[in-house]
Amino acid sequence: MNTRRIALLATLAVLAALFFSLDVSRFLTLDFFKSQQAAIESWRAGHPALAALAFFAAYVAVTGLSLPGAAVMTLAGGAVFGLGWGLLLVSFASSIGATLAFLVSRYLLRDVVQAKFGDRLQALNAGIRKEGGFYLFTLRLVPVFPFFVINLAMGLTPLPTRTFYWVSQLGMLAGTLAYVNAGTQLAGIDSLAGILSPALIASFALLGVFPLLARKLVDIVRARKAYEGWKRPVRFDRNLIVIGGGSAGLVTSYIAAAVKARVTLVEKHKLGGDCLNTGCVPSKALIRSAKFLSHMGRSAEFGICSARAEFDFGEVMERVQRVIRSVEPHDSAERYTGLGVEVVEGTAKLVSPWEVEITRTGGGTERLTTRSVVIATGARPFVPPIPGIEDVGYLTSDTVWNLRTLPRRLVVLGGGPIGCELTQAFARFGAEVTQVEMLPRLMMREDPEVSELVMRRFEAEGIRVLVGHQAKAFVVESGERILVAEHEGAELRIPFDAVLVAVGRAANLKGYGLEELGIPSGRTIETNAFLQTRYPNIYAAGDVAGPFQFTHTAAHQAWYAAVNALFAPFRTFKADYSVIPWATFVEPEVARVGLNEQEAKERGIPYEATVYGIDDLDRAIADGEAHGFVKVLTVPGKDRILGVTIVGEHAGDLIAEYVLAMKQGIGLNRILGTIHIYPTLAEANKYAAGAWKKAHAPQRLLAWVARFHAWRRRDPGTPRGTARPAGETA
Ligand SMILES: Cc1cc2nc3c(=O)[nH]c(=O)nc-3n(C[C@H](O)[C@H](O)[C@H](O)COP(=O)(O)OP(=O)(O)OC[C@H]3O[C@@H](n4cnc5c(N)ncnc54)[C@H](O)[C@@H]3O)c2cc1C
Repeated sequence: MNTRRIALLATLAVLAALFFSLDVSRFLTLDFFKSQQAAIESWRAGHPALAALAFFAAYVAVTGLSLPGAAVMTLAGGAVFGLGWGLLLVSFASSIGATLAFLVSRYLLRDVVQAKFGDRLQALNAGIRKEGGFYLFTLRLVPVFPFFVINLAMGLTPLPTRTFYWVSQLGMLAGTLAYVNAGTQLAGIDSLAGILSPALIASFALLGVFPLLARKLVDIVRARKAYEGWKRPVRFDRNLIVIGGGSAGLVTSYIAAAVKARVTLVEKHKLGGDCLNTGCVPSKALIRSAKFLSHMGRSAEFGICSARAEFDFGEVMERVQRVIRSVEPHDSAERYTGLGVEVVEGTAKLVSPWEVEITRTGGGTERLTTRSVVIATGARPFVPPIPGIEDVGYLTSDTVWNLRTLPRRLVVLGGGPIGCELTQAFARFGAEVTQVEMLPRLMMREDPEVSELVMRRFEAEGIRVLVGHQAKAFVVESGERILVAEHEGAELRIPFDAVLVAVGRAANLKGYGLEELGIPSGRTIETNAFLQTRYPNIYAAGDVAGPFQFTHTAAHQAWYAAVNALFAPFRTFKADYSVIPWATFVEPEVARVGLNEQEAKERGIPYEATVYGIDDLDRAIADGEAHGFVKVLTVPGKDRILGVTIVGEHAGDLIAEYVLAMKQGIGLNRILGTIHIYPTLAEANKYAAGAWKKAHAPQRLLAWVARFHAWRRRDPGTPRGTARPAGETA
């Protein structure tokens, strides 16, 4: 706490001490006021302006310092100044005083509270940012919540001061009016409790609930407005139509069929979407072959003096296709039809909030009515408008799988997960790969040392990594294709045979009725926490909805979209993004769940970092993979996990234990207390927990335990100093 804060705290403490030691509160009782009422009124008659000013200042001071007595002062305001002036003075004085208390609490405590509990307050903070005014209004109207507590508590939240002020003034008005009015008949009042009858309290409570009801009403009106002009069918052909048969669409329709809904899944290209056909599956199959080659190259490390691999890149790519075909049955029309889903090959288009037009791939168009729709149309590679890009031709994650000849010189644009995975794979097949990234490092979402490890490995494998390089143009000179890049003001020319663009993925938002229905979208379709679009019966899930672009998050959202679409308004769930893991399948593999250090710092969340180096792990040493680390972020002084980053062999598998721990609220102590098989890579998780435990060992207690053991050995020779708790003298 800085000196200004300490000074303010000291001043407040002195004022409070004076208030109580001088027993000022005796002047703020009903009895005292009644006994002095005549004298006060006659003084006020002689000095009306001064009386109003003095009353106003005293009221602001009492409420600003959160001292008791505001209720009696409000009555006094009515008694001395009458209903009109009393209400005016009290209304402004109480709002200003409350705002001062709010500001004091904010200045003194908010940073401390947010720093200590910020991660747990995330949901509350988000709620206050969005609807703080509503909440405050409710609290102000329901007189059971003490106002001084509300002032101080609200000061700890992100509620803007201006909102606090005007909502307080408005919200307290009804209560103020009741008290000031009661004050005008002060003679008849014997106690504060008698002022508000149960009926009056109930009416205020109803008023308090009003904003929440109003919000619901606004939602209903908004939905009705969205549906305005559309004719709702009397009957529906389907309970649910799912547009897009990728990860999100498949899981959505599977769940719908499992709960016996009549569901139609429409896919215009290939079931399985990106993940099966152009994403996770082919990339991991390619990476596997590349890894095999990398192991051949490292044969001497494993005691094999020479190993030579002859391969045909075309055959490697054929294997990729064979892997896709092997996985394909999991996502096939036959399987889903068997599960109870009607699978239609065709292009779907929303023609009304309850109607989908399907143009079948084999020909023919039909319109189906449906109670709900889930949009799961996915995303596609984003191609930046770099001058000349269309002239040189480029590969993306959609088209790269058609290659059967390895490009000699490959430029990969993009240092994100997809760019990194494909860069390393192609380099391992022998392509000369130059990876170009505009940002200062690869995999910018991860902590700097993660990027550093990956980049060092890439460079050791012969990849030319150019970070901080912006692609400016593509040109063809003397038949040679060249990327012109800029780095710190200087121009660099990179000749290449093929360029792979992997700079991000753009949601598919066009061509299927979003514009016509006026469904808002930015980078992705706009949805609420229930994954509903502007039309409450139309949902979105997967890459097209964001904020994540993974198969497992698409499947996760699919559950919420399906259940909400089928059971709203009876039962609905907000999509839960509290524990989201992911991995990038480069070597060394990188996996993460929850916060990393850079995010914790950005969000001002305090943490302790515990790092266990996998270079020390027996199994990793035996496997020749002794590199990387497990980094666990915990709440300071506690074993509660805030996030984990693992870099190393099979990091994506290892992280599962921490994902479970975070989801189920299991701390490091319990991970440490769990048996892990020896020798496995999974032991790294336990050793990371052990490293945390060691750092938190109770040193004083251990010193006493050492003394106890020395005593049990009856060991007079034990140097006493070694067993003495730190700080104790002999
Ligand atoms: C190279 C690469 C590697 C990846 N690796 C991983 C990984 O290792 N792990 C991971 O979790 N994620 C990975 N991903 C991401 C993952 O593939 C996506 O997050 C996932 O496929 C998203 O699923 P989705 O259902 O939202 O969309 P998609 O899989 O794109 O499915 C959308 C489907 O909708 C169909 N469609 C669109 N419009 C219409 C219409 N009007 N009518 C009918 N059908 C329509 C499309 O044809 C498509 O099949 C990778 C992606 C790429 C490109």
